[in-house]
Amino acid sequence: MSKPVLELVIAAPRGFCAGVDRAIRIVELAIEKHGAPVYVRHEIVHNKFVVDSLRAKGAVFVEELDEVPDDAPVVFSAHGVPKSVPKAAQDRGLSYLDATCPLVSKVHRQAERLVASGRHIVFIGHEGHPEVIGTFGQVPEGTMTLIEDVAHAEGFVPADPGNLAFLTQTTLSVDDTAAVVATLQRRFPAIEAPRGEDICYATSNRQAAVKAIASGVDAVLVIGAPNSSNSLRLVEVAEREGTRAALIQRATDLDWAFLDGVGALGITAGASAPELLVRELVDRLATRFEVIEREVETTRETIAFKLPRGLDAAA
Ligand code: SF4
Repeated sequence: MSKPVLELVIAAPRGFCAGVDRAIRIVELAIEKHGAPVYVRHEIVHNKFVVDSLRAKGAVFVEELDEVPDDAPVVFSAHGVPKSVPKAAQDRGLSYLDATCPLVSKVHRQAERLVASGRHIVFIGHEGHPEVIGTFGQVPEGTMTLIEDVAHAEGFVPADPGNLAFLTQTTLSVDDTAAVVATLQRRFPAIEAPRGEDICYATSNRQAAVKAIASGVDAVLVIGAPNSSNSLRLVEVAEREGTRAALIQRATDLDWAFLDGVGALGITAGASAPELLVRELVDRLATRFEVIEREVETTRETIAFKLPRGLDAAA
């Protein structure tokens, strides 16, 4: 009996961004240079497959610096760390490499500049996310307030409403953030905006790409981790277009019932999910369906980030 046809509409760009690519390369090169084990504070990027692959090469993942032995090198994750972390590493004489994405570091430097100029920062982001913890850790306590949504922005009562600035996490929903920013600007017309976009190119490009395919398909699958902010946002963007959407980590997580009545399936992947996982999903789908693949590219990405000094020669 012939298999039913399933059209796959694959969003582009999807998957790895330049910051994730760089962070993974930093761990790989550190292992090459120093030998295993190389310690990594927090998941280098939020993807189990990536973490397991690096673990197999000799990376040891820990949550805090005090779990790192004195003589071992340590890498800080792409999400960024509070200033106290490199300081503690220096105090212990640890050899460390910082894999913070340069676009997160850019937000860190903006936060420092704003606080130095006397502004109170409103930071739009998700409580508890490592990037938020890292950014709060760039400035003295009490100089930054976290705002998570429009309701929060409506209720915010600053000490000095004429002396505010806002910054954002890099992996937020473009549409949700615009609504929060509009609320802040309506309530505090003098609030200073960031110099450029804080939501990074990879986050906005992946959201635009999934938006472009979502209304033309019956359902969307996003490959990514449940703790990956940008992957969760892709599910929300697809759902807002009126399409059923689900997040899966691997092809094996796919519940076939999700495809009931689906003739056209959209596929994308978060910025920390490798392309291999997309191919794995397509291969699994091909076991039950006659798959017809079509890629819809909304923009082409050419961004690449330099490696830290000392590792670039090893690349
Ligand atoms: Fe950097 Fe954006 Fe990738 Fe995060 S999602 S690592 S900010 S490029």
